[in-house]
Amino acid sequence: MRVVTIEDHYMTTEVRAKLRPPYPPGGFDGLVERSKELGHNIGEEILDLTGSRIRAMDAAGIDLQVVSLSMPGTEALSAADAIPAARDCNDRLAAAVKAHPTRLQGFAALPTADPAAAVKELERAVKTLGMKGACINGHVGGDYLDDKKFWPIFGAAEALGVPVYLHPREPHPDVLKRWFGGYPELALASWGFAAETCTHYLRLMAAGLFDAHPKLTIILGHLGEGLPFWLARLDDHTRGAFRYRGLKRRSTDYLRENTVITTSGNFYTPALLCSIMAMGVDNVIFSVDWPFESNKEGRTWLDSLPLSNEDKEKIAHKNAERVLKL
Ligand code: ZN
Repeated sequence: MRVVTIEDHYMTTEVRAKLRPPYPPGGFDGLVERSKELGHNIGEEILDLTGSRIRAMDAAGIDLQVVSLSMPGTEALSAADAIPAARDCNDRLAAAVKAHPTRLQGFAALPTADPAAAVKELERAVKTLGMKGACINGHVGGDYLDDKKFWPIFGAAEALGVPVYLHPREPHPDVLKRWFGGYPELALASWGFAAETCTHYLRLMAAGLFDAHPKLTIILGHLGEGLPFWLARLDDHTRGAFRYRGLKRRSTDYLRENTVITTSGNFYTPALLCSIMAMGVDNVIFSVDWPFESNKEGRTWLDSLPLSNEDKEKIAHKNAERVLKL
């Protein structure tokens, strides 16, 4: 069975040096413990686009990775820094893809702080470099993408026929302080990423993004950041408000028709079965979240799933091939 993963990351030393404060919060100390748990050095692996990455894919039985710049990415940079940084990242990623076209593909980094430049870079990345879409790492210096100044980016993605991966980054500074002050262990992958990213996604939905761009596809990682679990309640309690806002469809429709989710870093069978039942099996794509997660653990979990071969093939590669035109 071919296995494709679409949420895996790299970082460049140049972008990492520009992150203020340094990322991850508190430096790489937290990741040292995580690295021990996983059995590989996250800080080293994330800088390697090809050799070590492909060896780790081989060891786990992963055929193709669609790679994106790690959070907080160019979303954490000023426009002046983000424009050349995104261009450099995309050129490097494209060179890696060109050297290993059957093993690697890429999502573009964008200078989101300058939406017009982001549109240009997305067009260049897709048309010239062959990127399969864009990955946006959450809020842009505290601004969320429901602000219509960002919508030309979504319009360009829709016109190009490529998806936008809405990836977590650390929550908005106000949220970090008020919700997670004193509890940093809750602020990131354990809970904060999901709370932040599904709220961000719901702001896009409530703002009417999917009516303005009905062919747009947004990808959410980590089993939809928990949204499949909330589908019925969300639908029930947004119906009236969405009508009042003049939205054309219900939240369930936007989730099933404009959104696909991945299994990145969430290898939990009960949550997967809920996600398949809520979203439909055609909207679920296997992913790992290398190097923050283990390729081997992900692949072992995929093999263990209590699903038909047909559904497993969809999750392992067919849905990714359809959505990303691989
Ligand atoms: Zn990720």
